[in-house]
Amino acid sequence: MTLSTDRRTRGAERKAPMTSTSATPIAGQRRGEVVVNDIGLDYNGVPALADTDLHVHAGEFFTLLGPSGSGKTTLLRIIAGLLDPARGSLHIDGTDVTRTPTQKRDIGFVFQNYALFPHLTVAENIEYGLKVRKMPAAKRAKRVAEMVELVALGGYADRYPSQLSGGQQQRVALGRALAQNPRVLLLDEPLGALDRGLREELGAEVRRIQQESNTTAVYVTHDQEEAFILSDRMGVMRDGRIVQLGTPEQLYREPKDLFVAKFLGKTNLFPGRLTGVDGAKSLVRVGEHDLVARTNAAITGEDVVCSVRPEQLVFGAAGAGAADAGAAGAAGAAAAVPAGLERLADATVTEVRFLGQRRSIHLDADGIACAADLDPSAPVPVVGERVSLLVRPGEVALVAAE
Ligand code: ADP
Repeated sequence: MTLSTDRRTRGAERKAPMTSTSATPIAGQRRGEVVVNDIGLDYNGVPALADTDLHVHAGEFFTLLGPSGSGKTTLLRIIAGLLDPARGSLHIDGTDVTRTPTQKRDIGFVFQNYALFPHLTVAENIEYGLKVRKMPAAKRAKRVAEMVELVALGGYADRYPSQLSGGQQQRVALGRALAQNPRVLLLDEPLGALDRGLREELGAEVRRIQQESNTTAVYVTHDQEEAFILSDRMGVMRDGRIVQLGTPEQLYREPKDLFVAKFLGKTNLFPGRLTGVDGAKSLVRVGEHDLVARTNAAITGEDVVCSVRPEQLVFGAAGAGAADAGAAGAAGAAAAVPAGLERLADATVTEVRFLGQRRSIHLDADGIACAADLDPSAPVPVVGERVSLLVRPGEVALVAAE
């Protein structure tokens, strides 16, 4: 982590070129493997990116996900060659490109602001980089036509950017970035300026286009839903570090720490004490209840937090001391926990909301505010009702208490 002063001053912005160069791909060959080795960068002695290792596989859709200021753009711009790392090395398809200028990295970019040429049509915008590279006119026209089709802008080729919606402009930016068949496509919050509906639609398109063009994608976003829709794998970033890598499902189900658990969607947090570990299963005591949870190798102490997603909670009859009937109908001390479930806590319903595909139930589990998602066809609990919160053994994630 120690640096000489002159290295610290590195990282000056380089101007983003509008084009990239490209080698002709060999048919069927997977391209675009990105290997980041101990890359780091500081601004005035403060690390924007701590020494980082990352291996993005050829053809993969990889997302850097994290809150604002966590270092996502810094890492992306280093891969792009728009920022010089203070230390470490970067390889693309086995070639060291750490000091290779952006134009020679064979990379395509799409940024949040579309950065299209306003005085050029859709086709001319896509064609621009090919012209710069002196691709023959006939080949160029063919490639532009392919790109217009790929990004589903048939019929719009002669329009100017001002005659297009934000989503359409971003499709042009994608077509332009892919026209030169880059090894790696880098996308920095490309959907950020669009409204929600368009974001979902274009997100699905970005994924389709990446798959069809068989291009490795490295994508930056702070939006967890976007990351889930798009990514094969992702890295969650915090304070200049990738804190956890994995598929969306792995990260959602097995967060390494409290930060990842909370960042990847709504979760309920129940403090507990780790009482035993047996391979993939851990025993944890929450209040008066013993639960089987997923083992988390990152936990060292006894103080833990159970992270329970709203859809993991099942309602049962309230346990001992309950005054009212529970959702399952029965009540009182004799209330048994159904087979295949275990009791996490008892709680009182404080709010019931119908949200279309789900019903959101808010509860107070003796001081712990929590929420459960129920199938709308399930019995509806009423406000004030006392219920048991049940979970399936081994499903609950454990993280260290902070
Ligand atoms: P993200 O993309 O996750 O929002 P960035 O990579 O842009 O995060 O920034 C990482 C950290 O580096 C932040 O703390 C940010 O304030 C700092 N930073 C980014 N660019 C500069 C700069 N040009 N000068 C000084 N600090 C910067």
